[in-house]
Amino acid sequence: MTDKDLSFILTHLGEEREQYFNAIAPPVIQSSNFAFDNLEQFRACFSDELSHHVYSRGNNPTVEILRKKLAALEGTEDALVFSSGAGAVAAAVIGNIRSGEHIICQQAPYSWTTSLLKKFLTRFNVEHTFVDGGNLDQIKAAIKPNTKILYLESPNTMTFDIQDLSACAALARAHGLITMIDNSYSSPIFQNPASFGIDIVLHSGTKYINGHSDVVVGVLCGSKAMVKKIFESELMTLGGILGPHDAALVLRGLRTLQLRVKRSDESAQFLIKKLESHPKVERIWYPFHSSFPQRELAMKQMRGCGGLFSVQFKTSSMENMETFIHRLKRFLMAVSWGGHESLIIPTIGFYNIPGRDNPPMPFTFVRFYIGLEEPEWLWQDLEAAMEAL
Ligand SMILES: *Cc1c(COP(=O)(O)O)cnc(C)c1O
Repeated sequence: MTDKDLSFILTHLGEEREQYFNAIAPPVIQSSNFAFDNLEQFRACFSDELSHHVYSRGNNPTVEILRKKLAALEGTEDALVFSSGAGAVAAAVIGNIRSGEHIICQQAPYSWTTSLLKKFLTRFNVEHTFVDGGNLDQIKAAIKPNTKILYLESPNTMTFDIQDLSACAALARAHGLITMIDNSYSSPIFQNPASFGIDIVLHSGTKYINGHSDVVVGVLCGSKAMVKKIFESELMTLGGILGPHDAALVLRGLRTLQLRVKRSDESAQFLIKKLESHPKVERIWYPFHSSFPQRELAMKQMRGCGGLFSVQFKTSSMENMETFIHRLKRFLMAVSWGGHESLIIPTIGFYNIPGRDNPPMPFTFVRFYIGLEEPEWLWQDLEAAMEAL
């Protein structure tokens, strides 16, 4: 996609301004239902609820503008939005699996995707195999006669494991599997999996797509037929929809998607440059970093990385690590990412939680998200806090 295409999508596509007084900002059509003029229209609307206005669990005009933009951003025929990223993931998976069938999934997807496979779908006799998604032979070896889905998350959001999207799509096609990917890390700005042949592209729109840490939203992009299938079943039946108010907020967030993701990307690179030569840094995890094992593959299919990276610091003292974390004032300690604010998730916070095992990652491992602040201002804070290490 060119920057000119992006400009058109983010600023104009899907906006039929003459329908609403030429208003620049789309109205929030806060209505649950829509009236029919006559029986002919009544029948036409019920023949296809996805493209007519009947009821806002199905198709709401404000939400529809958002869907059109998201489909265009991912280069797919259509898109659906859900009340959360987890809802979009669940709809995509459940919509393409039956009892007795099998799913192959890359080894470390988002935590609630793991829960969907391990805790939820096993209750319905759906099995799964986790594989090292960077190893195509391992994926191939996991395919069974009842396998139906190959689920990818490339990169994932702590260690940034990459899967070869073209190769996975080709392998899946040869075995009649549906491919789906959680593309939240890259956003549509830096990676378009449908262009490599992936069937369903998913996002936690809570992250970059909305980008202001004020809406929870999920996105599912795919062919017209796939979207219609999931609309008529999982979306309409389970009902996990996005309301028009939230859709309007996401539309506002989208206006600056390209600016925000680029800014995060540049600022993350600025900080990584500073960190890589610092004596207290053991290792940096970032797909385009010279030390990243899958860098070449990442550069083949991604146009950039964005604001997420992880750092392993050098210290053997948990106490020093805790002091370091507590000294950071310009990075908030919080889950999520993709908003305006810089964040950290320190692995040490998962140590010594009553009733939970310590994580496999060392306590020196911290996941950073770089937001829209001045990167030099962030570095001052980070550099000063690192004196505790
Ligand atoms: C946050 C996240 C999700 C879940 O999205 P919600 O909007 O929080 O439901 C899924 N995948 C990834 C990679 C995420 O970061």
